[in-house]
Amino acid sequence: MKFFFPDSQDQISPFFNFDAEEHPVHRVRQRDDRYAHEVLRRTPYNGMLVSKAIVDGVMDRGSKFTEAQRGRIYRTGAHDFYRLKNRRHHLEIMGDCGAFAYVDEEEPPYSLDEVIGFYEGVGLDLGVSMDHIVFAYLTEAHKKKGLEVDPDWVRRQELTIDIAGRFFKEVRTQRCGFAPIAVAHGWSPESYQKAVKELQKIGYKQIAMGGMVPLRTKDVTDVLRAVAEVRRASTEFHLLGVTRTSSMPEFKSLGVTSFDSTSPFRQAFMDDTDNYYSLETTYVALRVPQTDGNPALKRRIKAGELDQMVAIKAERNCLKVLRAFDHDKATIDKAVSALRSYEKIYETKGRDRSDSYRRTLTAAPWKSCKCGICEDVGIEVMIFRGAERNKRRGFHNLAIFKRRLDRTFRTHS
Ligand SMILES: [Zn+2]
Repeated sequence: MKFFFPDSQDQISPFFNFDAEEHPVHRVRQRDDRYAHEVLRRTPYNGMLVSKAIVDGVMDRGSKFTEAQRGRIYRTGAHDFYRLKNRRHHLEIMGDCGAFAYVDEEEPPYSLDEVIGFYEGVGLDLGVSMDHIVFAYLTEAHKKKGLEVDPDWVRRQELTIDIAGRFFKEVRTQRCGFAPIAVAHGWSPESYQKAVKELQKIGYKQIAMGGMVPLRTKDVTDVLRAVAEVRRASTEFHLLGVTRTSSMPEFKSLGVTSFDSTSPFRQAFMDDTDNYYSLETTYVALRVPQTDGNPALKRRIKAGELDQMVAIKAERNCLKVLRAFDHDKATIDKAVSALRSYEKIYETKGRDRSDSYRRTLTAAPWKSCKCGICEDVGIEVMIFRGAERNKRRGFHNLAIFKRRLDRTFRTHS
């Protein structure tokens, strides 16, 4: 089971100074900053996914790449750009159009020439045909309630299949260097099954299942069971944006060979509770927001409800006590009480995370983690604060996620 990680230009600055909260003076982002596969002890994914929408932008929305970065990825190719060349194992790079970016449009925004020009231009291994997401799913309960198929869903499905047909022909005629992947869209097991049948008829051997991100695991399984019935022996399925680690063995038995996901990375700083992964569980990260970067705090200080110095003192005390705790020079009680004192100042919803913090500090999982980041920065990885700490925790999660995945398949094979 291959795991592809979608790139969103998430890198860390390896020489960031946590005490001074500063980057090195001579930092050159492009030269110095590092991707997850460069700082973790083991490569945390089997491949990367890069979207045309992110590199080239889509319609009026700009690209996540600077002009200089765009120039470079087209000049040197994606493998060189991501510094993935000359590795022991070749890491595949898959390209797609980034259909979420234009989901609200009537039609996908690019011409086929533009899509193929991107995949060939940056030298990808795999290229996903341009698709248009069907954002709906009809469960049996919906159907009983009388909900019907929207003609726009059918239009989007047919459009996606039509584009896939032309894409497949062009890739052949132009003898492109990448392998083409089609996307199946649908709104029920039967409709996904129909899409897969048609895409196989065109000649596709790799089919990505799209629009499944919001589906319940049961619905994903129902769809996969339906498409497995019509799957040719040589057809491989990819799950776009779906991570259900515990169901992966079943997905595999239904023909899924790969998937992509950002959630292990994003949970580090987006999730309310599951911020730091371990092999067995997850932990809440220790929130120490920057006084001058927190909008709610700034507002209260401006309104005169809060003395800025009191907030800054509580914030600094948290960092000091947490670092002391990491060196066995402060107790858990002291650390929890410092965090709680500051939480009372910045927390607007009256939340008290003391118990979760105690659980995190008691286990102190970063102390025994050998991912390549935890042993380097210690407790900083567990502090929910600023991009340099939060992204490091995201990278750590990727490492653990990959290990969980490998373990799942070891025990099931
Ligand atoms: Zn770690």
